[in-house]
Amino acid sequence: EERILSESAHAEDQEEWSLRPQTLDQYIGQEKAKGNLSVFIEAAKIRQETLDHVLLYGPPGLGKTTLATIIANEMGVGVKTTAGPAIERPGDLAAILSSLEPGDVLFIDEIHRLSRSIEEILYPAMEDYCLDIVIGQGELARSVRIDLPPFTLVGATTRAGMLSAPLRDRFGVTLKLEYYTMPELSAIVTRTSRLFGFEADRMAAEAIALRSRGTPRVANRLLRRVRDFAQVAHQTEIDATLATSALDRLHVDALGLDDVDHRLLRSLAERFAGGPVGLETIAATIGEDAQTIEDVYEPYLLQQGFLQRTPRGRVLTPFARQHLGLKEGN
Ligand code: ATP
Repeated sequence: EERILSESAHAEDQEEWSLRPQTLDQYIGQEKAKGNLSVFIEAAKIRQETLDHVLLYGPPGLGKTTLATIIANEMGVGVKTTAGPAIERPGDLAAILSSLEPGDVLFIDEIHRLSRSIEEILYPAMEDYCLDIVIGQGELARSVRIDLPPFTLVGATTRAGMLSAPLRDRFGVTLKLEYYTMPELSAIVTRTSRLFGFEADRMAAEAIALRSRGTPRVANRLLRRVRDFAQVAHQTEIDATLATSALDRLHVDALGLDDVDHRLLRSLAERFAGGPVGLETIAATIGEDAQTIEDVYEPYLLQQGFLQRTPRGRVLTPFARQHLGLKEGN
């Protein structure tokens, strides 16, 4: 089953690589992060230095990968992309690092998932642009030092707190990505719909934005499904009627909550009298992974005021009860 909401990018998201904004100007929203970043990029360019290492954090789908590519474009350098779980052995990291051209951006997604031993190889690479690796085994083992070209590491993670302190300290720039506002999401939908050649009008863009839970990846996925309906209806323009009827079929409610959100909130109400209840317990009850709930689902539910986090666990809010149509004390 393919979910509209998921922590990783689908093949479809990759396919439409061409949708990705290429410059900071084309990147909608995230004004604070963008403002800071443009100063650091400008300064590095004036000094003709590589940009300091950058850590991006925030919920999935907010455009961290996109921003890493933009950093490389703005600096006029190449970008190599990998992810924490893909770097298993020291040799994997050595191979990537030694393939970098001077000034390149190395993007490591899910950087909190690097093992401690890999992290330790990364420290001298980040600080002194060199690699100390052990080659061979037993008596034949020897340590070799390899010089690397200067590079910029851009790391992405869902929560900065998941990184080990020594790794976190080695990033000169840390940027937090926020959920997008309605006007920003609407602008993203409009932009993507033009690139699709199925222009969404203002009301349609707003209807899609409203259900996108602050997340461009979700907005673009919903738009793709709406485009399918437009295609079949032989319409090249997407209006609010078409958008709304398509969205209603996607199991995404008027505030962007999907089946998992509903099960989570309902189980809190119906089985735990609204809480407080621990995350692990909720996860087990609805048969979802606790980590996924914490990284993918919960941040939006907290931000929108459906849930509250207390020292004794999660608590359902009156707003959530109202949204689900539940009575108080149920
Ligand atoms: P992350 O790495 O944070 O999980 P990402 O960078 O992989 O996210 P996606 O979540 O795949 O980005 O974003 C989906 C699409 O949304 C991108 O292809 C891009 O077209 C669009 N997008 C993301 N952020 C923005 C933005 N700020 N402005 C315009 N389009 C955006």
